[in-house]
Amino acid sequence: MASLTFPWLRPLWQQLINAAHAGRMPHGMGFSYSPDLGVDTMLEQLAAFLLCQQREQRSRACGECKSCKLWKAGTHPDYLRVEPEIGKQIGVDAVRQIAQQVQQTSSQGGNKVVQIIHADRMTLQAANALLKTLEEPPENTFIQLAASRYSQLLPTIRSRLLAYATPKPSQQEIKQWLQEHSQQAITDTVLIELATTKPLSVLRQLQSNEEQLAYLGLLCKGQLVVEKDLEKVHQMLATLLSEIQFAHRQAMMGEMPLVVATNIKQPAPVHSLARALAKGYRRGIVLRKALQNAGVNPQILVASWSTDLTRSLRASTLN
Ligand SMILES: [Zn+2]
Repeated sequence: MASLTFPWLRPLWQQLINAAHAGRMPHGMGFSYSPDLGVDTMLEQLAAFLLCQQREQRSRACGECKSCKLWKAGTHPDYLRVEPEIGKQIGVDAVRQIAQQVQQTSSQGGNKVVQIIHADRMTLQAANALLKTLEEPPENTFIQLAASRYSQLLPTIRSRLLAYATPKPSQQEIKQWLQEHSQQAITDTVLIELATTKPLSVLRQLQSNEEQLAYLGLLCKGQLVVEKDLEKVHQMLATLLSEIQFAHRQAMMGEMPLVVATNIKQPAPVHSLARALAKGYRRGIVLRKALQNAGVNPQILVASWSTDLTRSLRASTLN
């Protein structure tokens, strides 16, 4: 992953670097959080750059100064990353820790950087506590918020941030990028379109052996486990749906998807598979929406959907 570059982020990166060199870097910055588009990597590089002691004239951290070495070791005392645990919110304690960090003198005599990932998951109390810090950020302190639902941030918080939208790649750009990183020719237009918003997921699919479509493999075997945690259920469903899409495309081209062939003894004929996968996908999308309603039981709904799909992937004579 370290060698991956994200060409569509270059204009934004240049804008940030120019602002830093000109001494116009805002103290509060907001980013739309899309890790699939490479935003995680960019935020890390931005923190490393702001902490680097030899960044003048450079467009990225030098990698060699004392600060860069501390950064690489993951022990830079002037950097703080706050992120909620899966399924949890960012509480007021984490924000107090930020306030403390911000008030301290920089230990390396340079900048201090705080990054809050999933900032839209702060509790109201935490958000209000953060406001105070954002109102009077000390010199050389940069607070960067990344939120996947940016509009969910408190308006008072948003008004203290300079917001940066994440640029998306064009189809031509992403096609080239996929080809370069997967070492294969890409002609599937559906895949290319999908990759303009989810480049890393698509690349991962292309690079992984299809047998490793993990969730779909388990579903084929009738062994899919539905976790209790709703967020994990959502993540699993999102991955599973893209795995189903991938297998469906193959079945549509008349090829037996390997994931089905390796996990089901007697799979349905390929044209029935294509229909079953398409139907399973459509119902999966409806299911994902239904899970947002209060009072539903996600485990039962997902288990019932996946059992139906497993059944329809098998040759009917065996049922
Ligand atoms: Zn450096």
